[in-house]
Amino acid sequence: MIGYMNIVVTIKQVPEDPGAVKINRETNTLVREGIPCVVNPYDLFAIEEALRIRESLQKAGARTRITVITMGPPQARSVLEEAIAMGVDNGILLSDRAFAGADVLATSYTLGKGIRKMEMVSGETIDLVICGRQSTDGDTAQVGPELAEFLGIPHVARVFAIDEIDASSARVRRRSDEGYETIQVDLPALLTVDKGINQPRVTSLKGMMRARKADIPTWGASDIGAEHDRIGLSGSPTKVVRVFSPGKSHKARLLQGSPEEVAHELAEVIRKALSS
Ligand code: FAD
Repeated sequence: MIGYMNIVVTIKQVPEDPGAVKINRETNTLVREGIPCVVNPYDLFAIEEALRIRESLQKAGARTRITVITMGPPQARSVLEEAIAMGVDNGILLSDRAFAGADVLATSYTLGKGIRKMEMVSGETIDLVICGRQSTDGDTAQVGPELAEFLGIPHVARVFAIDEIDASSARVRRRSDEGYETIQVDLPALLTVDKGINQPRVTSLKGMMRARKADIPTWGASDIGAEHDRIGLSGSPTKVVRVFSPGKSHKARLLQGSPEEVAHELAEVIRKALSS
């Protein structure tokens, strides 16, 4: 019988129009200042799923605490407010100049340290972490799995249905290339949820009033005990060397012939393109 569940949802602030962002040519990172930003659309499904788990557990007499956490610039507070307006209990902002330019590994490490700090502050362990499947800007879909590794918990990615959940485990369905799989996973666990798992609710006026007044702590690198060589640009083993919109060329060419001939000609075309 479950009495209480502690859920964390990771949410990311992304540009409303990914095509409108500017790139800092020195660091190849996004210039987010002055760009209208929103909650990463996949994370709205994650927030809604946490709220639905709360509602289903409430029927069984269980309580839940739902916390959203984001790593981003100070203006990322707005995505936490939106989540609180949807009905989550509280939000944590991980913000520090030292976090800037983080790649997926550094982001996952930072989120992991932030979640462990939450557990220390609340004295409660986390039972479930829900992430969106991917962000619409970085689009790597790696933070969820890497965060699970940092937390030392199992994860299931691309979940499109949570069929059962109790204090010790969850039975979920995830999309696969062949169709879908049903997976039983022990808690604590991390799930990344896919679009279509639910229909995210809209924020209520009452929720927005509550969000405006919410006390949202901002934690920097020293607050979460992050090692400086594992955060931000300097803690990122991968560098985005170039971000560009591929030029549109309409020079299409149909390669004809046997599979061997087409493969040979394709190799020639690629070799020429790489050497040009
Ligand atoms: P994803 O893994 O796609 O996001 C999955 C989920 O993780 C999200 O739905 C959300 O729930 C959670 N999440 C992601 N970021 C945060 C956050 N900051 N706070 C809270 N929750 C979060 N980094 C690389 O390591 N390799 C790359 O190839 C790479 N390419 C990039 C290309 C572009 C155009 C950009 C803008 C960034 C790129 N990055 C890359 C940097 C990477 O986007 C950031 O490190 C980012 O914070 C995490 O990666 P993601 O956006 O791909 O997240």
